[in-house]
Amino acid sequence: MQARPTPYLDDLNPAQREAVETLDGPVLMLAGAGTGKTKALTARIVHLLNTGRARPNEILSVTFTNKAAREMKDRVGRMLGQTVEGMPWLGTFHAISVKLLRRHAELVELKSNFTILDSDDQLRLMKQLIAASNIDEKRWPARQLANVIDGWKNRAITPDKIPAAEAGAFNHEGPRLYAEYQARLRELNAVDFGDLLLHCVTIFQTHEDVLAQYQRWFRYILVDEYQDTNVAQYLWLRLLAAGHKNVCCVGDDDQSIYGWRGAEVGNILRFEKDFPGAHVVRLEQNYRSTPHILAAASSVIEGNQGRLGKTLWTEADEGEKVRLIGHWDGDEEARWVGEELEAMQQGTRGMRPYSLDDCAILVRASHQMRAFEDRFLTIGLPYRVIGGPRFYERMEIRDAMAYFRLVVSPDDDLAFERVVNTPKRGLGDKAQQTIQRIARDRGVNLVEGARIAVSEEAIRGKGGAALRVLVDDLDRWGRLTGDPDLTHMELAEQVLDESGYTAMWQNDKTPEAPGRLENLKELIKALEGFENLSGFLEHVALVMDNETEAEGAKVSIMTLHAAKGLEFPAVFLPGWEDGLFPSQRSMDEQGVKGLEEERRLAYVGITRAEEVCTISFAGNRRVFGQWQSQLPSRFIDELDEAHVEVLTPPGLYGGGYGAAGMAASASPEIMARQQSDLHDRASRADVYNSPGWRRLQSRSGERPVSQPRESKTQVIDMNAVAAYVIGERVFHQKFGYGAVAAIEGDKVEVDFEKAGTKKVVSRFICAADD
Ligand code: ATP
Ligand code: MG
Repeated sequence: MQARPTPYLDDLNPAQREAVETLDGPVLMLAGAGTGKTKALTARIVHLLNTGRARPNEILSVTFTNKAAREMKDRVGRMLGQTVEGMPWLGTFHAISVKLLRRHAELVELKSNFTILDSDDQLRLMKQLIAASNIDEKRWPARQLANVIDGWKNRAITPDKIPAAEAGAFNHEGPRLYAEYQARLRELNAVDFGDLLLHCVTIFQTHEDVLAQYQRWFRYILVDEYQDTNVAQYLWLRLLAAGHKNVCCVGDDDQSIYGWRGAEVGNILRFEKDFPGAHVVRLEQNYRSTPHILAAASSVIEGNQGRLGKTLWTEADEGEKVRLIGHWDGDEEARWVGEELEAMQQGTRGMRPYSLDDCAILVRASHQMRAFEDRFLTIGLPYRVIGGPRFYERMEIRDAMAYFRLVVSPDDDLAFERVVNTPKRGLGDKAQQTIQRIARDRGVNLVEGARIAVSEEAIRGKGGAALRVLVDDLDRWGRLTGDPDLTHMELAEQVLDESGYTAMWQNDKTPEAPGRLENLKELIKALEGFENLSGFLEHVALVMDNETEAEGAKVSIMTLHAAKGLEFPAVFLPGWEDGLFPSQRSMDEQGVKGLEEERRLAYVGITRAEEVCTISFAGNRRVFGQWQSQLPSRFIDELDEAHVEVLTPPGLYGGGYGAAGMAASASPEIMARQQSDLHDRASRADVYNSPGWRRLQSRSGERPVSQPRESKTQVIDMNAVAAYVIGERVFHQKFGYGAVAAIEGDKVEVDFEKAGTKKVVSRFICAADD
């Protein structure tokens, strides 16, 4: 074979080169954050292709997110200096499993066009099973069953293999309900996320010929973020790798953060046992972060017991210390981050200017995002949310997708249930029960059941007529999926128009309706990038990190979990408070397991930063509608002071926020503010807990919001009394300081210093005591 140039090896250090050039046999790259594991893994793919060791489709390469897969594909192309054709087996465990499963669906009694359920559908199905078993769902909620079943699936346990010790799960009904749930999924021709892996493992274990075929096919296997594989993924991998044994896994035990989802860090520690003779490579030079950031991260992770332990060093300039700042409450924190981001674009505090694209906000819990989103919308700061199914979780999007799912697969009963009376077709509970009964009795899907109900006149009148139209339409749309003259975008639009779904929102007079119509348009736009409807549906089911990108720079907001493997010049880590981070659950737990996982998450967070890392905490926070006063995170105390600079929030409360916490800084002014605010908050908490608020929430049809938006509270605030005078300086929780411009009943118009003129409910402002 002719030797080809290998420029991609030139910018690797000797240890990385060793990992790249050791092509035969098992290789484990075990190293800390930012040491170039992913870079080396990518170079290894390039090397395999370049040396002719494997064709693109013979390399199985597993990444942790779809975004990481895309990036890796791009980088391989760049390193090779040409676009890579193929690489069909570069993706997440789930994405690769879908491909395998579509090819062999019949081996697990599915059809190849099976639907992938999301967690909502999954819960709905479980609710039905629980109801049918006469179990009190209040005592035994579906979500708990979902956790139990997911747990089994993560450990590759099928219903017939539940260990005796776990038979008592879910009030002793767990094993039976698991079996019924699986049976029901088969009837629906559907799988949930856990099944994707589990079915593949079952196929490999029961069909030697199929397994052998793939063992031969995948000459080289590579896995990034190996520390976060669960048992099912581990088995999947071990079965496939048993052929050529050319498996290269990279990971960092300090970054294992998916234990709660069944990941077992033990997998990485066991690698050498599983693959005897494995070549182990350790990397120690960090290329990502400044020494201060690296040292601060190390000082936190040192609190964990039982680590493998690593030394990390860097040649980078000293740079900024990790910045620490305390705030009054979560909204204040969001306001400060917004201002800081604006300042950072110009260059502030002696630092270089940063584009918004360079900046990321990494939160512990996704509900923290709301305050930032609200704030950024208020000040017009562009942002993107990464890693959340936010867009696809919206009611109108889910409805529309249910129509598309039915068009693609009429067996999708859950989708049928969702849309049969949306828009209203006069098909109430009774009619729907009739359809269910007929379908059950005849052993057909609900669409077929509905067809029979109409033709046998089991459902008559207006509802019957509407149902006939729906069933006929579904048939027709289904046939149109194959029409070469109609694009799938046109078909999708046609489905939404002809079903009356678009009209439903056009006729809706609520303030949300225009936004929903916008979202539907956006959905059609999103279809463009796909060959057909099923490709799109599969993508949505799998992809949690796709957001339609508009032009211009944006700050990224995501959870710490979603930030794994990524890096940003400037990182904000808000909400470092006990009970939030580390989470309450991990603190309540016996032993240190949960807490250690939180600490690893803190390590992951800090090590995402290249140049600037800002940690913040708030003294008060609204958690699930209740105000709580917060203590700074214990992880803040663990930060080595030598690498931390404490910032003072501008103006408001004077200085004095340190790692010691807010309590120490209680000036008389703050005490007074605190009292008036606490009073304000108590009344607000009452509002959020009132039956009226809850009704409002359920009526809006969205999943319950853990942190209600203030704008909505105006609807139910009836008896507030305005006690302000024009010109008076006031403070509003969300908009900050301003002067009263006008008073109308219980509403007050305020010229806010930062947020402009707004009409707010008087109860939610207080006199500024300065
Ligand atoms: P994590 O544990 O966070 O996933 P990682 O070990 O995968 O980190 P990479 O993301 O591969 O690290 O690399 C971190 C940064 O260092 C990247 O910007 C990468 O381009 C750079 N880098 C890696 N190796 C080298 C090298 N030999 N020379 C220069 N830069 C490097
Ligand atoms: Mg990496």
